[in-house]
Amino acid sequence: MNKRILIVGGVAGGASAAARIRRLDEKAEIIMFEKGPHVSFSNCSLPYHLSGIVEDSDSLVLMNPETFKQRYKIEARVHSEVIQINRKRKTITVKDLLSDKTYEEPYDKLILSPGATPIRPKAIQGIEKPHVFTVRNVLDIEHLNNYIKQKQVKDIAVVGGGFIGVEVAENLRLANYNVTLIEFANQIMTPFDYDMAQILHKEMADNGVHLIVNDGLAKIGEDFVETHSGKKFAAQAVVLAIGVRPETSLAEEAGLEIGETGAIKVDSNYVTSDPDIYAVGDAVEVYHRILHKPTRLALAGPAQKQARAAANHIYGIPNRNLGVIGSSSIHLFNLNAASTGINARTAEASGFHFDSVYVMPSDKVGLMPDSNVMHFKLVYEKPTGRILGAQAIGKGNVDKRIDVIAAMITMNGTLEDLRDLELTYSPMLGTARDVVHHAALVALNQLNGVYREVKVSQVRELVEKNAYIIDARERREYEAGHLKNAVNIPLSEFRNRLDEIPKDRPVYIHCRSGQRSYNMVMALQHLGYTNVYNISGSYLGICLYEYFNDLAGDREKIVTEYNFN
Ligand SMILES: Cc1cc2nc3c(=O)[nH]c(=O)nc-3n(C[C@H](O)[C@H](O)[C@H](O)COP(=O)(O)OP(=O)(O)OC[C@H]3O[C@@H](n4cnc5c(N)ncnc54)[C@H](O)[C@@H]3O)c2cc1C
Repeated sequence: MNKRILIVGGVAGGASAAARIRRLDEKAEIIMFEKGPHVSFSNCSLPYHLSGIVEDSDSLVLMNPETFKQRYKIEARVHSEVIQINRKRKTITVKDLLSDKTYEEPYDKLILSPGATPIRPKAIQGIEKPHVFTVRNVLDIEHLNNYIKQKQVKDIAVVGGGFIGVEVAENLRLANYNVTLIEFANQIMTPFDYDMAQILHKEMADNGVHLIVNDGLAKIGEDFVETHSGKKFAAQAVVLAIGVRPETSLAEEAGLEIGETGAIKVDSNYVTSDPDIYAVGDAVEVYHRILHKPTRLALAGPAQKQARAAANHIYGIPNRNLGVIGSSSIHLFNLNAASTGINARTAEASGFHFDSVYVMPSDKVGLMPDSNVMHFKLVYEKPTGRILGAQAIGKGNVDKRIDVIAAMITMNGTLEDLRDLELTYSPMLGTARDVVHHAALVALNQLNGVYREVKVSQVRELVEKNAYIIDARERREYEAGHLKNAVNIPLSEFRNRLDEIPKDRPVYIHCRSGQRSYNMVMALQHLGYTNVYNISGSYLGICLYEYFNDLAGDREKIVTEYNFN
């Protein structure tokens, strides 16, 4: 008998599952139910309609029900909300949202891919106002875009500094709106550590986004928002992007098991607690292979993989489920940023014995056009050297570097594996010793106790304590901006100035990017100095780390002038 497979949700997970099933079974009856008017749209491209990068919102819809029918013999029913699963009868109850009529459809197998809903906390005063928007689908983005254009809105508050909030803020800014981004935590983009996030903060500020961190939205007025701290910002429109909640109501009402993270619990083949019902995508709980615990991961790649795996399992094709590591990337004005695995904050909170390095090599040979610094942070386990995660920010191909690390993590790679990895090289594309090799070498030095370093986050305290800090850059670089109490002893001069460098107290050394200071640290160690530290991140990292917090102007600067070149 032909299988009858019903799918709830017609976008990333749902449409992928439907297409895979058709490839596995030409005879199956496949019906996809979608409560919205569109199936198969590019959720990830939605924010780009606000700037006009995606000019026509119709182009966000990749396939329509007719194409599904003609090409794949898949029935896609839009405006059709599944309101109940009747497990005993193996049927679902569907509400046709246009006619308001309900009907039942029987299934052999049911796949749930209902996604996640944007959170709208009732406690926020004014949350129900018509100028408060969320972004999940094509209608949402059209609605927002039409509203701000028709009402000639000038000021917009975006609430939440995750992927969606940041992308929405960027695209609104590109369209010349005055944008205030409000984030409750002390940083945006939590896959990044605080030190790396400062680079993103600066990029937001440099491009005219008014970024507020450490403050939450308390109240929405007609043309303003007010934060917990009582600050008011002009806003004739508000976009809420403070997170998503997995759509579990159908599953819960049907008595399917919900996991400890609040998402639908599935086994390694995405089967729920009912053997005839599968669930995939943002609505499910997945296994974190580094943290060894259930987690939620609302990303498109995993949703598509899970959909394929569920379809395979229906047809007896075995899957290998390695769990997730959480790889993601974002473009922000002139920067690209990507991360994979866990960051130092999570490693700390999860009790790992770990360390990290922050390096900033060139992404291409310096002589080449478009050669730029790439900020790269590598987190590894001690003493094994197992790679736990990485973050990269720069103008170049950060995603290439992070994808290499993602592959390494997946293969349980160590710092030695990364150091020995044979990668491609051509001057226009990279350097003979790639950014990732550079990070592995620095981390191995650190792990093997070749030299010691302090983190960029510790520098303020060192300056305040009047620690002995050597700036190993050339004089003209020092004169263009330096740490307030740093002594300028360039690498090219220090061998003649050893009498100035004390042996009875710690000596901290930085240059611009860490290369010259590393050489000086090594030389001093060979000359009998035992208390020498390289300052990770060096002057460039220090400037980036301090800049955004200094913008407020309510604390003493530790540098005379910022220098970002
Ligand atoms: C603005 C935005 C930008 C994003 N950017 C990225 C990115 O750059 N990279 C990345 O990896 N991920 C990104 N994502 C996340 C990614 O889109 C999701 O992880 C992915 O779409 C999840 O797939 P899904 O099938 O679980 O849910 P969705 O793709 O959201 O599909 C679920 C569908 O189910 C429908 N539905 C729900 N309940 C019912 C019901 N009872 N009956 C019928 N239909 C129902 C919903 O209407 C919805 O259309 C972004 C998401 C958004 C919103």
